[in-house]
Amino acid sequence: MRAVYDIIIIGGGVVGCMTARFLSRYRLSILLIEKRDDIGSVTSAANTALIHPGYNAVTGSMKAKMNLIANPLWDGLSHELNFAFDRCGDYVVAVGEDELPKLDALFERGRRNGVTGMSLVSGAEMREREPLINPDVSGALFAQTGGMCDPFGVTLAAAENAVMNGVEIRTNTAFIDFIKESDRILGVKSSSGDFHSRWVINAAGLFSDQVMHKAGVRPDFKITPRKGEYLILDRAESALQSVYFPVPTDASKGILATATVHGNTILGPTALEQENSEDKSTTASGMQEVLSGGKKLIPSIQPRHVIATFAGLRAAGNAPCEAPGVDYNHDFIIEIPQEVRGFINIGGIESPGLTSSPAIALRVIDLLRGAGEKLQEKPDWNPIRPARPQYRHMSDAQRKALIEQDPRYGRVVCRCENITEGEIVAEIHSPVPARSYDAVKRRTWLGTGRCQGGFDMTRVTEILARELGLSPLEITKKGSGSPMLARPTKVLGDHDES
Ligand SMILES: Cc1cc2nc3c(=O)[nH]c(=O)nc-3n(C[C@H](O)[C@H](O)[C@H](O)COP(=O)(O)OP(=O)(O)OC[C@H]3O[C@@H](n4cnc5c(N)ncnc54)[C@H](O)[C@@H]3O)c2cc1C
Repeated sequence: MRAVYDIIIIGGGVVGCMTARFLSRYRLSILLIEKRDDIGSVTSAANTALIHPGYNAVTGSMKAKMNLIANPLWDGLSHELNFAFDRCGDYVVAVGEDELPKLDALFERGRRNGVTGMSLVSGAEMREREPLINPDVSGALFAQTGGMCDPFGVTLAAAENAVMNGVEIRTNTAFIDFIKESDRILGVKSSSGDFHSRWVINAAGLFSDQVMHKAGVRPDFKITPRKGEYLILDRAESALQSVYFPVPTDASKGILATATVHGNTILGPTALEQENSEDKSTTASGMQEVLSGGKKLIPSIQPRHVIATFAGLRAAGNAPCEAPGVDYNHDFIIEIPQEVRGFINIGGIESPGLTSSPAIALRVIDLLRGAGEKLQEKPDWNPIRPARPQYRHMSDAQRKALIEQDPRYGRVVCRCENITEGEIVAEIHSPVPARSYDAVKRRTWLGTGRCQGGFDMTRVTEILARELGLSPLEITKKGSGSPMLARPTKVLGDHDES
């Protein structure tokens, strides 16, 4: 631990971790604090996972700017950081003649925003490209720069690369308040003690409003969480070719049906405002809405195809767009505020925040330079985060060679997804280690198939306990307060004689 860090980042979502990774290029001491037991487990793990082309964002907004700068960076990043990414393109699908004019409006906005590679596709062409699409499709907007990724995988890869390059990450460490001297921020008070720094970066997602208020910045800024519920479909029942949006409404991009990098189809999200920033429960009405929205695009989808549900919360803010003449009140905030010194304020990062995260990181670097920081590159900075073996994606010959090196890769723990003990152990000892069942699940994708963990849970609990040197009773599902096991049911030698 340092006496004074150059930079403390509050929040280990995709924005905080990507910022840490980009800043790790420079001679800076950096600490990232995350209040949960794992990085990336909040909004960055529960979203639609799309890299947006940029035709949706309001022209002139910070959202549009960040989206357009970031979109082309994803191919290079996926090669450097070795996360799953597919530049598959995306479609906005008009069903019936009434919806067709909306495609022209989107096309025009995309053109104004600087999106390249867009084209209008006829209904007949769309039916040929996606045989499962609603036969009443009248046309579609295709954007070839659209893509999909594993958003938790992105966050983890960025965090690991940051750690490889010297960044410290402390999980289970909640920001409580700032250490301040008049208008200068000197660090943070946290649940793990005080940490001093020259700069603090607010990347606290749904709680970014509370963090900036503690700094005395933007007292009127408020995040109103907007829940999005999803259905995940069985791979065996429905396999889509690409990403299919309906024509958007004023409130949201609508319920889409999309392929994922893991091979499942997902449907969603809904868009419902709520006050609670922690409530990610799914509801019967939400599920109905998602199902009927999905069926509008892909009529063959049936309720029995659903294997899981989840929800994410958009950190929807009320920040006005700074660009002159743009009437828009839900923009991203990425700024050095005037009120305090030593503070970079990031807030209201709803969609397209995942897409924009590398551009947000670059903007933070620009802001630091603008504030007089002489950022010097480290000669030994390593941009590559190596991939770890994934048994399910290997050929038989590759599997055989790996098992000869380490027999644990020959023991399949999750039968639906083909995840081995070797992969689980590797995640527990990785640069940003998995310490709970859900942390292993997010990293390996075990427990996400038809049986939803029925076969692997006890085995994973046992492996976590063995590798971490803990009792199985100490292993949790998702950190403190969520034990996997309640109590022993039988103790050796403890006979009931009655
Ligand atoms: C339904 C839905 C669909 C979406 N779809 C897309 C999409 O397809 N494409 C796209 O580009 N974007 C999408 N987004 C937006 C995207 O997911 C978010 O913009 C992005 O994940 C935000 O990342 P973040 O790091 O700001 O927030 P988070 O991932 O929430 O990370 C913030 C972190 O800060 C931590 N934290 C909070 N308070 C404290 C504290 N006091 N101390 C320490 N740590 C703290 C939290 O625990 C959390 O880990 C979607 C969002 C939702 C909800």
